[in-house]
Parts: sequence; C-alpha cells; structure tokens
Amino acid sequence: MPSGSLPRSVVVIGAGPAGFSAAAELRRRGYQGAIQLLDPAGMPYDRPPLSKDYLTGGLAFPALAEPGWYGSNAVEVVPGTAVKLDPDNGSVTLAGGGELRADVLLLATGGVARTLPFTGSDLLHTLRSRSDADLLRSRLGPDKQLVIIGAGLIGAEVASSAASLGTAVVLIDPVPVPLVPAVGPELAAYLHSLHETAGVRTLTGLPIDVVRANGALSVLMEDGSALPADTVLAAVGMVPDTTLAAAAGLGVDDGVLVDAAGRTSHPRVFAAGDAVRRSSNGGLQRRTEHWDAAVRSGQAAAAGILGEEPPEDAVPWFWTDRYGMHAEAVGNMSASGTTVERGSPGPGYMVFRQKPDGTLAGAAGINAGNSLRAARRLITLGKPVEAADLSNPDADLRRLLRARPSKTD
Ligand SMILES: Cc1cc2nc3c(=O)[nH]c(=O)nc-3n(C[C@H](O)[C@H](O)[C@H](O)COP(=O)(O)OP(=O)(O)OC[C@H]3O[C@@H](n4cnc5c(N)ncnc54)[C@H](O)[C@@H]3O)c2cc1C
Repeated sequence: MPSGSLPRSVVVIGAGPAGFSAAAELRRRGYQGAIQLLDPAGMPYDRPPLSKDYLTGGLAFPALAEPGWYGSNAVEVVPGTAVKLDPDNGSVTLAGGGELRADVLLLATGGVARTLPFTGSDLLHTLRSRSDADLLRSRLGPDKQLVIIGAGLIGAEVASSAASLGTAVVLIDPVPVPLVPAVGPELAAYLHSLHETAGVRTLTGLPIDVVRANGALSVLMEDGSALPADTVLAAVGMVPDTTLAAAAGLGVDDGVLVDAAGRTSHPRVFAAGDAVRRSSNGGLQRRTEHWDAAVRSGQAAAAGILGEEPPEDAVPWFWTDRYGMHAEAVGNMSASGTTVERGSPGPGYMVFRQKPDGTLAGAAGINAGNSLRAARRLITLGKPVEAADLSNPDADLRRLLRARPSKTD
C-alpha cells in the first residue's frame, strides 16, 4: 500500500465488540475497500449477555447485528482462526491451512478467561465464550450446586442468573466487599448484600484447590474447610490475548501496545479492544476490560486505518446487572476526594466521587441511567458542582450541566 493512500482491504481478526465496531465504523466513515471479519465463532456475537439473559435462556443469540447487516455493508464474515501474522506482507495464516491477505490487519482478539493455578484446575469452568455459557447453563438448575470463585462483575452476574434458575450458589471472594475500587465502598457493599437477600451464600476466604472424590467436587479452602459442588466456576478476570502479536514481533506489554488511533509498532497492523494497552505521553495506561472501551477503541482504530483523527477519549463507563438491579459507573471512583451519596441504597441510589476543586472524578448508581449520563458529561467538561446538589435527589444533574460554568470558562 503506497504511504498516504487508503488501504484497498482490511482483515479484522476477532469479531467481538471491538472488531465488529471497527468494521462498522470503517463503513460509517465511507470506506469502500474490502473488509473481512475473521473469527472461529463465525457470526459475531456480544459477550455481556453471556452472564445475564443468554445464560438464563432468555436470549437465544446475543447478536451484534442483524444477519442481513453484513451483506448490506459488504463485510465478509470468515469463520476461522488466525495462527500466524506476517505484518510485512499483510498475510494471516489460518488454522487448518489457508491464508487471508490485506493491506491492513486489525487485531481484535480480546482475551481469555484467567484460571487458577490449582492442581485441579482442569475441573474449573470459566466464562468467556458462547460455548462456555452453553456448557455452564447445562450445569445450572434446581438440585444443582454451583461454587463461584470470584465475586467481581462476572462472578456476581452468574450468581444472580444461576440463582434465578434455582441453583444453590456459593460465591467466594478473598475480600469481604468486592468491586470497591470500581463503584466505591458504599455502592459495593449494597450490591454485595443483594446476594444473601436472594439466597446466594457469600463467603470471604481463599480457595486453594478443587478436588474430585467419589464423583463429587470439593473446593478446598485455605482455612481447612471444604465446599461441596457440582460445578465450580473461576470468575477471576481475563488475560489479554496477545499471542499473534507477540509472535509477529509487535510491541506487547500486558496487551498489544497501541496509540490513540490503534496503531501498533508495525505500520500495517492496528489493534483494538480488550487485547490492547494504550501508550500515551510516553507512559502506558491501565488496560480496560469493558464493553464501551472495546467499542470505542475499535472505532478509533477504524479512524486510524483511514488516516483520520480518532474521536476524543471518553470518560470510562461500564454497567453490570444483578437481581433486577442495573448498576453503572463512570469515571474513577477511586480518585482522591470525598464521597457524596444521593438517596439510600436501592433503585435511584447514586454515589459521587468529588475532587477537592469541586469537579467530579466518578459517579456510580443503580437504575439511574440519565443521571449517570449527565455525570459523565460533567466529568468530561470538568464542571464544578455543589455537594448539596449532588446529594439532593430532586436536583436534576442535566440542569447542573447546563447551568454551571466549567473550570475553563
Ligand atoms: C461474561 C461476560 C460478561 C460481560 N459483561 C459486561 C458488562 O456487563 N458490562 C461491560 O461493560 N462489559 C462486560 N463484559 C466485557 C466486554 O464484553 C468486553 O470488554 C468486550 O467483549 C471486549 O471486546 P473485544 O472485541 O475486545 O474482545 P472479545 O469480545 O473477547 O472478542 C474477541 C474475539 O476475537 C476472537 N479471536 C481470538 N483469537 C482469535 C484468532 N486467533 N483468530 C480469530 N479470531 C480470534 C475471539 O473468538 C473473540 O470472538 C463482559 C465480558 C464477559 C466475558
């Protein structure tokens, strides 16, 4: 591809939210070249429903787009797995033979579920793919016992889904209240309390192994106790999938290293999503593992591929659902400052992290989408707000957004 000209073709490796969004954004920006979307799963699908309504059987297929979208947008879905990249000649070797070639390659390989270094680690289930969810679902229901190791976002959601199917669930975490850095201690405590209310047993402790004896599983705890289980799920985070990038000699450090436009260390290769780690101003940012960040980085890489400016960075946002409650958080709930609460724990409850200069660093809440969107905007704009307004459930944050001058005004 001559430098400065548009690529004639793009192969996207990985059809999760990042890869799919990159393909969609290329078309939205008017790109007319060939786009191939490679994934072993074939038809692209979304991951958040895998611990929620897909796991309970309420959603048949967590599609990222209607099947007709791919044809209408001239995006070719190629079922297959990349086993090798050759960045210099733009080729991708496929498992079982075959090769794809393109002017530009986009790596959007996401990650794999982290597992635990147990001697019985092969007895553990994990949840990252649709087939993981299908297998897990077959193990849930009345008269089934599920032990979940890790009460973070995915562990908690699976506990909720499994309990709704009548499964007896024990949820273990080494800390008494998980998710404090993500949503603040007040909201984290309330969210965690929902488990016991729903009949899920929560346990603080450290599992050290899983063993099978007489056909039954036991989770062995550090304190010498043992928990019986039919199924044990390790919900202990994910590891970015950087295998292809590392083997191709691209810069990797706990993620494929990219700039704001998804450029890797090779001019022909871009990368996006959970697999990447951003470098900026000479430093490395923390990796993100949330849907919105994956989608936005796919869109940024599409801009980069076309030689256009990527959109401005967005304030981080994620959501999580459990027991009918929809919790969301924006910004940084661990930033230094003070906490302001609005309302009392339950639907509509919000917690704000306010910096000493009166601006917001983060906000989190339950069933409070509009207010959290306004809070996200307040963070973006750096608008100072009064703590009294934050704590007042009748003060409309959207009005504060319009009324208050920003720091830079
Ligand atoms: C169960 C679950 C629930 C979640 N819930 C939430 C939530 O409620 N809120 C939230 O904000 N985030 C949630 N997330 C996180 C969110 O789904 C991820 O951040 C997002 O999926 C990352 O998108 P991605 O495209 O980078 O990676 P992925 O979604 O992992 O997609 C990567 C794709 O690359 C493919 N691939 C990998 N290697 C190859 C290869 N060699 N060749 C071809 N294809 C390859 C994989 O098959 C996969 O389809 C959840 C994640 C999981 C697993």
